[in-house]
Amino acid sequence: MVVLKMLAFAILGVILGDFLSTFIWHVPEHAFGKLHVTTHHAKDRGFSHYAVLSPKLNVMLDGILGIIPYFFFWPVWVWVFHSPMSILLGYLFGQFHVIWRHTTALGWQTPTPIVRLCNLLFIVTPEDHWEHHKNAHQAFGDIFTFYDVPARMWLKFLLGIKRKYRRYSRNSIAI
Ligand SMILES: [Zn+2]
Ligand SMILES: [Zn+2]
Repeated sequence: MVVLKMLAFAILGVILGDFLSTFIWHVPEHAFGKLHVTTHHAKDRGFSHYAVLSPKLNVMLDGILGIIPYFFFWPVWVWVFHSPMSILLGYLFGQFHVIWRHTTALGWQTPTPIVRLCNLLFIVTPEDHWEHHKNAHQAFGDIFTFYDVPARMWLKFLLGIKRKYRRYSRNSIAI
């Protein structure tokens, strides 16, 4: 029972963490920021760069800012649900996934049975994530594929705000 609870909260934590990271960091960064796009979407960088294993400051900063939203609900997991081990489990899975999803940069291909299993569980495969590297406005959700559609809608909405703001500031300068 304790193990089941730990697993359930670990999975829930990863689902929530990916949601928060996608909607309050990753997508807004694509709409308004520069750090993630110039760092993570830079062309022809190696595996360690994309998998956040490089000690370079911009790579580490991009990785840290992407992981911070995962911390938001930790107090609830510890003090309300008394399940701190599930945080560790979720964190280890997240770390494994960020490395695994960039193995495409090493020329690796995911075996078909694993791709099928991931599709069944809505888990992003390295090939899915590589689509995001090739087209920065597609294939959102670092860990779960079901965030892609709402994330693209969110991006469209934020880009609309950005356009309106630019038009407004251009008009105010002209006045
Ligand atoms: Zn990536
Ligand atoms: Zn991105």
